[in-house]
Amino acid sequence: MDYFSNQISKLIEQLSRLPGVGIKSAQRLAFHIINMPLEDVKSLSNSIIEAKENVRYCKQCYTLTDKDICPICSNPKRDQKVIMVVENTRDLAAYEKTGKFEGVYHVLHGAISPMLGIGPNDIKLKELMHRLQGDIDEVIIATNSSLEGETTAMYISKLIKPTGVRVSRIASGVPVGGDLEYIDEVTLLRALEGRVEL
Ligand code: ZN
Repeated sequence: MDYFSNQISKLIEQLSRLPGVGIKSAQRLAFHIINMPLEDVKSLSNSIIEAKENVRYCKQCYTLTDKDICPICSNPKRDQKVIMVVENTRDLAAYEKTGKFEGVYHVLHGAISPMLGIGPNDIKLKELMHRLQGDIDEVIIATNSSLEGETTAMYISKLIKPTGVRVSRIASGVPVGGDLEYIDEVTLLRALEGRVEL
């Protein structure tokens, strides 16, 4: 009996480490998984392993790709001197859909959140600073307007300012707390065009 509950506890504990999954959700997921047919559970765990093994980060912008350098970074028509910083690959996709941004991106894979224990070293910030050693005209910070997004934007601008590279923040036309991926293209474009220098 003890052995059985240890197994469940371990599963709950591991699931609760996922972002946005509290202990209650982790319990619900764990019991759901235990009640699933074995084949479905195997298929789920295989999908996780396969995605993890085959998808990697672009060596330049850290978006998810199956190549060393993603199609955006390797496109000669893109302006390599303008870098838009986004929180995740979904936000990158939202801006790409507008078809109006001609620079390149940098994907942080998260935002600074003291509450969740996510610090500057937990996101791709060192990697961004490393890129700035090259010839860069402007960094546009397009993190979400959530508390975490704003904290991250402030932190990044303070880091970049001394380097002399121009730093700007997308306009606050983006609803507070709104994930970029759910915002329509017109609003995104307005936010980009109305960006303010920090
Ligand atoms: Zn890339």
